[in-house]
Amino acid sequence: MHLVETADRNLSAYDPYIDDRRRQTIREAADELAGERIGHVNSTASGGGVAEILHALVPLSVDVGVDVDWYVMDAPNEFYTVTKTIHNALQGDRAPFLDEMRETYRRVTRENAADLEEEYDTIVLHDPQSLGMAPLLAERFPETTLVWRCHIDLTAAATPYLEFVRSFLDPIDHTIVSRSSYGERLSDVAQTVVHPAIDPLTEKNCPLEELPDNAPDSDDYPFETDRPLIVQVSRFDPWKDPLGVVEAYRDVAASIPDVQLVLAGGMPDDDPEGMEVYREVAAETENDADVHLLTDLPDAGINVLQRSADVVLQKSFREGFALTVSEALWKETPVVGSNVGGIPLQIDDGTNGYLVEPNDVGAAADRTVQLLTDDELRPQLGRGGRETVRERFLLPRLLEDYLTIVVEEAD
Ligand code: UDP
Repeated sequence: MHLVETADRNLSAYDPYIDDRRRQTIREAADELAGERIGHVNSTASGGGVAEILHALVPLSVDVGVDVDWYVMDAPNEFYTVTKTIHNALQGDRAPFLDEMRETYRRVTRENAADLEEEYDTIVLHDPQSLGMAPLLAERFPETTLVWRCHIDLTAAATPYLEFVRSFLDPIDHTIVSRSSYGERLSDVAQTVVHPAIDPLTEKNCPLEELPDNAPDSDDYPFETDRPLIVQVSRFDPWKDPLGVVEAYRDVAASIPDVQLVLAGGMPDDDPEGMEVYREVAAETENDADVHLLTDLPDAGINVLQRSADVVLQKSFREGFALTVSEALWKETPVVGSNVGGIPLQIDDGTNGYLVEPNDVGAAADRTVQLLTDDELRPQLGRGGRETVRERFLLPRLLEDYLTIVVEEAD
C-alpha cells in the first residue's frame, strides 16, 4: 500500500454551504476524535467516484483536526481483473467464480494488510477490492475499529460472489452503504446509510469564473457551443451503457438533426475493461462527426462539459450512486437518468430532470427531446437540480456523516 497526497482543504471556505448546526456537529465530533487516527484504504487514487470523494473528504477531515491518512493498495493487473469480475458479479453479472480468482484476491489483499506499518483507531475499507484485508488487519490490530464502506448496489448480486464478500465481514464492526436496500443481503453487522456528496469548491464543480486562467474552456473541445449538446460523463463501462447513450442520441438526432453528443470517460488504474469498451464505442461512432469521445479530461474540462451540456444523460444499468448526476445538477444542467441505484436518490422526476427505465432508450430520447425543445423547462429543472444538491449532496454533510459514525464506534 502507499499513501496518497491530497491538496489542502479549509472548512471555512465551505461557509456558504454549512449551517450553524452542521458546523457545530462537525466541531464536536472532531473534538471527540482528537488524538485518534483514521485510515482510509481503496484501490485507486484517480478515476471513479471513490477516489473523487476521498480527495475531498480526507483533507477536509485533516483541516478540522482529525488525523486521517489515505492508502491505495498495491496490486498486479491480475488482481484488478479479478476485482472487476467481482464488481460486475456483485452488480448482477453471472460469471463463473474460479478458485484461482479467490486465491489471487486473498493473496493480494493479505499482502496489502501485511504491509500496513502504522496503527489506526479506525480503518475504513472502501469497496470489495480492499475488504479482503479485514481478517489480517483484525489479527494484527485487534483494537482497531474496522468499517467497510460499500459504494455499490448489491441488490442483484450473484450468490457465490455475495457469499465471498460475506466471508470477510466477521471482523467488520460497521458497514456503510449508499441505500438501505444495498445492505439487506449482507450480515447483521451495524449498518448506516450515507449518501455520497460532491465538493462545490473543486475545479470540477466551481463556477467557471473561478477557474485558473490557463484552464480549458469550451473552445478547447470539439463540440460547437451554439448547437444542442448531450453529454454523458462516465467510465467506459458496460454498466454505464455508453452504446445505449449513442442509440438514444441517434433517436434524438432524428428530430433534432444538429444535436451533438459527447461521451467523456477516464481510464482508472483499477478498471481493466475500459479500453475495450472505449474501442467498441469508438468503432460504433467513427462515421459520425457530431459524436465526440473525450478521455482523461482534467477536472476543469469536466466542469466545462457539464455546463456546456443542454442535457446530461446517465443511462446506467446499475449505479451505486452516480456522483456525475449531482455534479451536473449542481451546474443547473437537467439530467435524464435511469431509475436504478443511486440515481433516483438524486433525480426527482419532473423537478430537476427525468427518470426513465434503464432499457427504455426511446423514453430517454423522448425526455431529451422534450428538454432540448423547451427553453423554459430546461432552466426551471436546472434551478431545481441546484437546490437538490445544495440541500443534500454537498461535502460538509458527508464529513458530518463520517465523523459521526467514527465517534459512535469509538464510544
Ligand atoms: N470522472 C472524471 N473524468 C471522466 C469520467 C468520470 O473525472 O472522464 C469522474 C466524474 O466526474 C465523477 C467520478 O469520476 O466524479 C465518477 O463517479 P460516479 O459515482 O459517477 O461513478 P463510478 O465511476 O464511481 O462508478
